[in-house]
Amino acid sequence: MTQTQPAKTGPALDEATHFVAGARRRGTGSHVAQVLNPATGLPIANVRFGTAEDVDDAVAAARKAFAQWRRTTPKERADVLLRCATVVEEHGDELARLESANTGKPMSLARDDVAGTVDTLRFMAGAVRAQQSLAAGEYVAGHTSMILREPVGVVAAITPWNYPLLIAAQKIGPILAAGNTCVLKPSEHTPLTTVRLAELLGDHIPAGVLNIVNGDGPVVGEALASHPDVALVSVTGSVRSGQAVARAAAASLKRLHLELGGKAPVLVFADADLDAVTAGITFAGFANSGQDCGAACRVLVQDSVSDELISRLVGRVEALAVGDPADGDHIEMGPLITEAQHQRVLGFLERAHAEGVQAATGGENMDVPGFFISPTVLTNVPNGAECIREEIFGPIVTVQTFCTEDDMVEAANDTAFGLAASVWTGDARKAAELPARLDFGTVWVNDHLVMPAEMPWGGFKSSGYGRDMSLYSLDDYSRTKHVTVNHTSVR
Ligand code: NAD
Repeated sequence: MTQTQPAKTGPALDEATHFVAGARRRGTGSHVAQVLNPATGLPIANVRFGTAEDVDDAVAAARKAFAQWRRTTPKERADVLLRCATVVEEHGDELARLESANTGKPMSLARDDVAGTVDTLRFMAGAVRAQQSLAAGEYVAGHTSMILREPVGVVAAITPWNYPLLIAAQKIGPILAAGNTCVLKPSEHTPLTTVRLAELLGDHIPAGVLNIVNGDGPVVGEALASHPDVALVSVTGSVRSGQAVARAAAASLKRLHLELGGKAPVLVFADADLDAVTAGITFAGFANSGQDCGAACRVLVQDSVSDELISRLVGRVEALAVGDPADGDHIEMGPLITEAQHQRVLGFLERAHAEGVQAATGGENMDVPGFFISPTVLTNVPNGAECIREEIFGPIVTVQTFCTEDDMVEAANDTAFGLAASVWTGDARKAAELPARLDFGTVWVNDHLVMPAEMPWGGFKSSGYGRDMSLYSLDDYSRTKHVTVNHTSVR
């Protein structure tokens, strides 16, 4: 892929290719799909889907490169990652525009994703040089024990469409820093920035250390998950895809790293700062059209401030600038990613309506080109309604009203998901005590969707296991080995 057209200029027939052993590869597949700009519904590139043979080719390249890469020092790998970060920074505007055109996300978010990508690579470069472990020592007389932390081998990474570039970096950074080599499959809907990233980094990473195979889940994803020479598979995606990967990986008992769906509760107490709550939900519920695993989508509010919060939220949501991000930096919310997702979200709205749920604002298809649904606040939600149980992944926030703290905590935990939650309160006791009672991998207090590179990201329950970001991801992508030297017998 050499060039991609701006959002509104229609078809650009560049083909996103695979990237294997340091070079673009056409691959053996015959199926070519269009990559659409979801804000217009128009094609902006093509992508050729890979085959199991292409996966074999990429895994073989990664395996070959592993022999050398595993022997590099942390400093050598850090130097490579730092050069990669600089290259991404230098191409930041191009990558942000490409990401925005392919995902439909506002330019401000796309720029944040590029900044997060640079920061992730730099953090991992530093972190791998400062890893900690059990102290080496003579735990048995005459025997000195130490822990080696080793790479696991070839790691397959499978990424979703909502943060293609940033999540690619959150995989590539720790996987390579830990000394592994990688074969990454981006989402078939949003391959463009990942392919471009590989091209840009190709001059800076040894051939075969990072490989990309495009294609769909059932063919390329499953071939990676079941491949005997892949040591670990890391997938970010829906629960369904995580289950499919776990099944495919079972025969070879390879390690899994699963970052799956979410349905984040937002607990708003009467003592909260409602201005901050409104701003927080408007951003974290709608910024990526609600297509965020940690989206602030399930508001549980104390009854005495419920009407006030709904009124403020509706006012702020109705003022959101919705449209094609190519129209300018003022756009705050774009479309859904595909027509299929657009129809899926409309289906949730229809069924919610049938269950007696009311739309305080929005709830409709927008009659414009592209895959738009108006930002929506749903109220009068009965217990057990589908819209509070399922991950909708659209610009829809539900609001439910509760009397007591215990009821709110119970309702928050009453979900199959365990990715993230937020608590909004002015009371120090609630701020200190409630995170421990909430069954989620991340709990924010008086904020939502704050994600520093130093802190882990990952879920409990159906949201999967494994941690992205932070030193924990370096642990996840490596293995420990205990070495003991008996020096009583050494001359
Ligand atoms: P998806 O599950 O449809 O696809 C994710 C990736 O899995 C894609 O690359 C897809 O091709 C691949 N895939 C699909 N079926 C597969 C199979 N049988 N075997 C192997 N790979 C397969 O998800 P999506 O629609 O791209 O993204 C949205 C989902 O991702 C949401 O559920 C969201 O919550 C989740 N997500 C989670 C996190 C997190 O950090 N926990 C972050 C972003 C997105």
